[in-house]
Amino acid sequence: MVSPLPTTNDGRVPVINKRYELLTLGDELLLGLTTNTHLSFLGAQLGRRGVLLQRNVTITDEADAIAKQFTESWRTADVVITTGGLGPTCDDRTREVIAQTLGQKLVFDPTVEKAIEELFTRLGRKMTPNNLKQAYRPERAEVLPNPNGTAPGLWIQQDGKVLVMLPGPPTEMQPMFLDQVVPRLAKLGLLLDREAYVQFRTAGVGESALETKLQSIFDQHGDALSVAFCAHQGQVDCRLSAPAGKLSYSQLEDIARDCARVLGEDLVCFGHDSMAKIVADLLRAEEKMLAVAETATGGLLAHAFTDIAGAGKFFAGGCVCYSNESKVLLLDVPECILEQHGAVSAENTVAMATGAAERMGADYALAVTGFTGCCGGTAENPLGTVFVALYSPLGVWSKRLCYPGPRAAVQARAVNAALDWLRRELLHARNGTSAPMRRTETA
Ligand code: ATP
Repeated sequence: MVSPLPTTNDGRVPVINKRYELLTLGDELLLGLTTNTHLSFLGAQLGRRGVLLQRNVTITDEADAIAKQFTESWRTADVVITTGGLGPTCDDRTREVIAQTLGQKLVFDPTVEKAIEELFTRLGRKMTPNNLKQAYRPERAEVLPNPNGTAPGLWIQQDGKVLVMLPGPPTEMQPMFLDQVVPRLAKLGLLLDREAYVQFRTAGVGESALETKLQSIFDQHGDALSVAFCAHQGQVDCRLSAPAGKLSYSQLEDIARDCARVLGEDLVCFGHDSMAKIVADLLRAEEKMLAVAETATGGLLAHAFTDIAGAGKFFAGGCVCYSNESKVLLLDVPECILEQHGAVSAENTVAMATGAAERMGADYALAVTGFTGCCGGTAENPLGTVFVALYSPLGVWSKRLCYPGPRAAVQARAVNAALDWLRRELLHARNGTSAPMRRTETA
């Protein structure tokens, strides 16, 4: 269960009623060259801590555009966050323009100069003089050190408001926000330092079916309870919150537990863990190893596991076998299976899972094949058809699935379907119960 929230004196979940605006700077965002992941990251992080980001405006790197938008946001918001434009080049103007708008002079900060020099030394690179531009800060700004890059973040409190200026690269912005900005905002009571809602993740039930299943539980709490669903590729998250502060955090947890009882094994977890992380935890707990073999998902299944720290403890390896020759060579798939049934078939997928487990000495194996591209497919197995096979100590089975949508969507659904099948199998193995519908089936 997610850890309990700090509550107000009367036990209710506190409500943060502050206006946050995010200004994402950069021509590359408006040109569509870079996806604005700062919005999804910061929106999600603020939402988790009880703040609904009110507005995100993406603007060009031009000084006039920055000044105009910042002036407007500063007038209406309690907290303004800017991203980008803090670097050393001539198109990085955020620092200068905002200092001027706030009526602050830029001052040279030797501690920032030292940090930049140290970073260049550590990387064995020669520092060019334009980097020193990053050592200037508005006179009343506090520096947020950047251990992952040269441009420091800046924190300004003025006019009863807070301005946070963050660097553009996500690898610099995200840790700076989590490690330095969140604690500062929480200290000022501008966000919660822990979760504002109870979330649970589900798999195998569509959004509308999930709501129908749980409606009678939600109805018991009327408008004291707010329920939000978020569907993504075969999984649906459900968030329970108390917008008017009429329910305590432990009451929200109780409601989530009631939902979990109705959902049974369709409940993946409480909180934000990925399905791969849940599967990894189950494998680790039982000291079992997993291998994967894939064609159509091109390594995405393996990546779901190698993305998890310490994967070597439960993940033996993965094999992307596109050609039939590689399936025979690397996974011992019998040639006659490929000749008789083709590569996108239950028989081949079962053979790939078996080969992966045996070749890599794993207890469990998953294999995925399918027609996910813009061409291919047969009358029997049209585009969007995917076969998933699961090898376990108890046997090996396959499923035929069919998903609509473009390649990336079918791939994501196939990966999630494979992960979810293994998750359910591991739950049954742990609990000593038999899994239903483990035979080869069609969905
Ligand atoms: P740098 O020191 O790298 O110049 P900076 O603070 O000046 O950092 P920008 O130059 O504006 O930031 O952006 C650097 C890189 O960060 C961009 O090329 C882009 O890849 C990434 N970036 C910027 N804004 C965003 C965003 N909103 N979402 C995702 N990535 C972003």
